[in-house]
Amino acid sequence: RRKWRKVVGILKDLEEACETPLGRLRQMVDAVAVEMQAGLVSEGGSKLKMLLTFVDDLPNGSERGTYYALHLGGSYFRIIRVHLSGQRSSLDVQDIERHSIPTSLMNSTSEVLFDFLASSLQRFIEKEGNSQAVKRELAFTFSFPVKQTSISSGVLIKWTKGFAISEMAGEDISECLQGALNKRGLDIRVAALVNDTVGALSFGHYHDPDTIAAVVFGTGSNACYLERTDAIIKCQNPRTTSGSMVVNMEWGNFWSSRLPRTSYDLELDAESMNSNDMGFEKMIGGMYLGDIVRRVILRMSQESDIFGPISSILSTPFVLRTNSVSAMHEDDTPELQEVAKILKELGVSEVPLKVRKLVVKICDVVTRRAARLAAAGITGILKKVGRDGSGGEGGRKRSHKQIMRRTVVAVEGGLYLNYKMFREYMDEALGDILGGKVAKHVVIKAMEDGSSIGSALLLASSHSVQT
Ligand code: ADP
Repeated sequence: RRKWRKVVGILKDLEEACETPLGRLRQMVDAVAVEMQAGLVSEGGSKLKMLLTFVDDLPNGSERGTYYALHLGGSYFRIIRVHLSGQRSSLDVQDIERHSIPTSLMNSTSEVLFDFLASSLQRFIEKEGNSQAVKRELAFTFSFPVKQTSISSGVLIKWTKGFAISEMAGEDISECLQGALNKRGLDIRVAALVNDTVGALSFGHYHDPDTIAAVVFGTGSNACYLERTDAIIKCQNPRTTSGSMVVNMEWGNFWSSRLPRTSYDLELDAESMNSNDMGFEKMIGGMYLGDIVRRVILRMSQESDIFGPISSILSTPFVLRTNSVSAMHEDDTPELQEVAKILKELGVSEVPLKVRKLVVKICDVVTRRAARLAAAGITGILKKVGRDGSGGEGGRKRSHKQIMRRTVVAVEGGLYLNYKMFREYMDEALGDILGGKVAKHVVIKAMEDGSSIGSALLLASSHSVQT
């Protein structure tokens, strides 16, 4: 009985440490907008890198041609071929492949990684059969921080999400891929290098021109948005014709002392291969949520006997995946059989129903915090561009009616698309922060494979600008 009380105490401490009351979320919104501004003023002015993308025109539906995209994400890579015939409704995704990235690749060498990608692309193209003598063009969708030097080139700043290929920081990513393709004799040109969020924004904008920002909640998390070039003070010569440019925030690295951080977050960070980095991503990214939940269960198991003898499996970092967290959280069987099954896989068997319920509660606390922080991040962007109804920048304190324009935020990523409770908590928090009147002008649009398809669309639109 004393043991149970101990566990309840641990849960209570967790709940308190993860609290995200509206006041705190609003402080976070302000902090996001302030950091965005600081990151736009000077290089290194904020933990938010606010990277230039050189994308000033987004696809609008008039694009034509056949294009390829290869997308290296955190857990998956995808290859697609799309055909466009000048009308939005005729977008034809002719082929799409999704594969998980073998973990051995994540700490291999640059040669191994890029040859793997090139060989996958080669197989994809060979499937087409009668390869006419067409000049193939590829968009490389790359879900890691890159300092772009043009729309088609850029150097890796650092790896994130468990990737660790040491000699690669500072390398030109497009050149690496192009080199590997050439070595295999593949006649295809890497014509665009696109962050996954920028791909998602392009896809969103193609279908709906009110789309001004895109956020990815997958293995990691990041966002981009359309900014006025005159607000990008650190860039002297923006070389854009439209007067705006897409900025890749790299928001996974956002930090504020107002973030509700727990001892589990501190441990996770300290033991990670990129400690003191990507603090926001470690609270909201799919790679990490499962491990936070695992750490709470492990602590409870160390301080009580309710989970039986301490399981060595449970002590292994990252054994509990976030898809198992959502499966437990959304377990609607009366006896919580899914929870029992997943605990068993973790080496914890035969726990009573009330312990299973406790595990569901832990999942709820960790995911709710993530979703609410995500909502604050999105509202921070809206605030920065004057679309949060507060009458800030761009809004000049007029009435809501005059200020609020329909605003679409494209959202994609496996965490958002597959975890219903995450989506619901995020929507609820957005409504709370923005207030009903404003929230009804803000549309969150989910899109599957938007990053990959959107990168191909972006490549197509950059062509129509040149020709
Ligand atoms: P990537 O991050 O590799 O680009 P995705 O956007 O598809 O790929 O995101 C994959 C991530 O989404 C997984 O690593 C996992 O963290 C999360 N995810 C996938 N399915 C689920 C699920 N059912 N419940 C919760 N999270 C999930």
